[in-house]
Amino acid sequence: MKVFKFGGASVKDAAGVRNMARVLTHFPDDDLLIVVSAMGKTTNALEEVVSAHGTGRDTRAPVEGLRTAHLEVLEEVAPGDAAAVGALEASFRELQRILAHRPGNRADEEYDRIVSLGEMWSSLVVSAHLKQAGIANTWLDARTVVRTDASFRAAKVEWQACENLAIRYLKPLFNAHPGRVLTQGFIGRTADGRSTTLGREGSDFSAAIFAWLLDAESVTIWKDVPGMFNADPKRFPDTKLLKHISYREAIELSYFGASVIHPRTLQPLQQKHIPLYVRSFLDLDAAGSTIDDRGANDALVPSFIVKPQQLLISITPRDLSFIVEENLSGIFWLFARHNVRIDLMQNSAVAFSVVVDDTPRSRQLIAELGKGYEVRYNEGCELVTVRHHDEATLSALTAGKEVLLEQRSRTTARFVLKP
Ligand code: ASP
Ligand code: MG
Repeated sequence: MKVFKFGGASVKDAAGVRNMARVLTHFPDDDLLIVVSAMGKTTNALEEVVSAHGTGRDTRAPVEGLRTAHLEVLEEVAPGDAAAVGALEASFRELQRILAHRPGNRADEEYDRIVSLGEMWSSLVVSAHLKQAGIANTWLDARTVVRTDASFRAAKVEWQACENLAIRYLKPLFNAHPGRVLTQGFIGRTADGRSTTLGREGSDFSAAIFAWLLDAESVTIWKDVPGMFNADPKRFPDTKLLKHISYREAIELSYFGASVIHPRTLQPLQQKHIPLYVRSFLDLDAAGSTIDDRGANDALVPSFIVKPQQLLISITPRDLSFIVEENLSGIFWLFARHNVRIDLMQNSAVAFSVVVDDTPRSRQLIAELGKGYEVRYNEGCELVTVRHHDEATLSALTAGKEVLLEQRSRTTARFVLKP
């Protein structure tokens, strides 16, 4: 049993959907659980619909745009499939029913109800196409199996419940071979039947959840790039493919901001020693990247991760008293309350410095911190993390830039730079 995940870019249009079917024909004998994301930028468009609805703007035009776009792709890839058209139309009617009501006071719950529909639509379209392309498959509503708590927009998986649901509703779908189950990423459901989402870009994590439940032999994330690279090719000239790294290394990289894999994906895979492959859906001959238990190659290639638009904040008690555990815990509490993630921290006797994304939430936090502390900040910074560095690359990297802060361990060097 293999788990495949196709992201929004891979199913962004009719050609993408057809290409996906072509990829599957290379695995004629495998049992496959296939996870798809919403098509292209549908999730962003649905977020717009949610915000328009919340602020009383008209949502008819954007919803109609999404409806026509999906019906058009469906007509192209699965002409004459009246059942699929019916299912798609029913789902859009559901959306219209939700939007017909004024937004309630449960904004996050409503967000999940609406935004989760993108994955329903793409999976209906893809399933219909696969059938016409001769790839028999069972369409599964992922929410039947992915049980979560009610933390809307960032739902937590209830693994034990999922395991029980998988025994009843998922595993029997693989009784005949080769079994093909087509389902959605990103979405789940609470015990009392409310839709949830796992956080933006959460479909990778869904693939890992299904792999964990099925004790899959591997997970493959099919992308428009041929694997995981040691740096973003848009920023660095000579990027190298990371052919083989450990879970641990991949977790570190995604924690520091490498955006190839959703950070939560790796833990369940590591737990069950399920390898993760990142491969190109455009070049099936390319080997791609392998992520598994073996770390022998982790240090072969230095990796560079750049986070732009960072704020370097320095927090000092007004009376220049020492930064100690008591004020630190108060400061951390404020960060947690404002839901601001700290990307890097460092302290001296009287100052506590942190680096965070520059967002409206961070700005509110600065205002709040200013009530009790002297707060200074530097905007427009870059946070650069280098794994497995050598001196030459580091000096090349920082040349001509002002280094505002620096932190080094044996494996990782981090710089806050003012470009
Ligand atoms: N469609 C969702 C998003 O765009 C989930 C995903 O793509 O992984 O965030
Ligand atoms: Mg997406």
